[in-house]
Amino acid sequence: MAKRDYYEILGVSRTASADEIKRAYRKLVKRYHPDIYDGPDADARIKEINEAYEVLGDDQKRAAYDRFGHAGVSGAAGGGGYGPAGGGFTDIGDIFEEIFGGGFGFGRGGGRRNGPVRGADIRFDLTIEFEEAVMGAEKEIEVTRHETCPRCHGSGAEPGTHPMKCPTCNGMGQVRQRQQTIFGTFVNVTTCPRCKGAGEVVTTPCRECHGAGQVEVTRRLRVKIPAGVQDGTRIRLPGEGEPGQRGGQPGNLYVFLTVKPHKLFQRVDDDILLELPINIAQAVMGAEVEVPTLDGPKLVKIPPGTQPGKVLRLRGLGVPHLRGNGRGDMLITVNVRIPRQSELTEEQRELFGKLAETLSPVSVEERSEHGGFFDRMKEALGL
Ligand SMILES: [Zn+2]
Ligand SMILES: [Zn+2]
Repeated sequence: MAKRDYYEILGVSRTASADEIKRAYRKLVKRYHPDIYDGPDADARIKEINEAYEVLGDDQKRAAYDRFGHAGVSGAAGGGGYGPAGGGFTDIGDIFEEIFGGGFGFGRGGGRRNGPVRGADIRFDLTIEFEEAVMGAEKEIEVTRHETCPRCHGSGAEPGTHPMKCPTCNGMGQVRQRQQTIFGTFVNVTTCPRCKGAGEVVTTPCRECHGAGQVEVTRRLRVKIPAGVQDGTRIRLPGEGEPGQRGGQPGNLYVFLTVKPHKLFQRVDDDILLELPINIAQAVMGAEVEVPTLDGPKLVKIPPGTQPGKVLRLRGLGVPHLRGNGRGDMLITVNVRIPRQSELTEEQRELFGKLAETLSPVSVEERSEHGGFFDRMKEALGL
């Protein structure tokens, strides 16, 4: 049978623009859509329209067709059905979706017979104390998850019975359906709706899990928290997630840590910051002060003449490095507390009065022996 001229099929002139061709194609697709047009030639009609557009909608193929006729494009088009080789594929898919809103799943791989599936991961949020994050801890958590049913070992079949080959897909796990579209008939492969791809069905469901092959259980698990973790650290417990299916590996359990703030200490990376208030006499005369640290109270020497804002570094009293050896430091910022008048006894006030007479006033240009305020801030922050 002689092929009809592509321009004739689309009802456009040989000089029609690409836009005109596209518009003509859309109009025809709408008119001869299988939902609307059900003449005896419906299938052939839409195939013909599709083929014509595949060539005329593509500049290169159209040029070849104009020069050599059908011979110039044979092989590029035709063959019927959907998905011929050639550049028309995308254009047609796009237009088809534009017109009918997609939903046909073109190009999707179709359902393979489902093999082992890895279990899902579980997230567990855990709040820990500041000290636990710093020094490490062992915590117990309760996790509700699915586990392979102990009665049927995951088959879903009551012990003593066996699952049988799925009659719907004949054990293949997938079904093939012939689908009628405007591009002709093609075969659509989907996961078997009866066995969900397993290839077998349970005739006598397990009493424990009712055929699911899994049961929900609450487990107490111990989580080892390494020293040096931070707010937001994630601890992985391999294999403690949801069970896999059809022999797949179980997922992991991820414990997401939230670290409570400490009322005295602040943490910057692996250093611990502490503000230490001392009184004015301690600053002037020097002192030994008991300071809280992560390792318990420690005596710290305040040198005579210590200025407010002075940072004392206690090496190795910070947070253990999570990776590698060693620990950060403890940085103590000295804050000299000036007594309020109401806090002073009569005698103390007299003494301050005597001091005031003998001490010379401080000039605005005078900088402390430890550098200016901003310098000390920078030093403390390691800048
Ligand atoms: Zn069971
Ligand atoms: Zn099946």
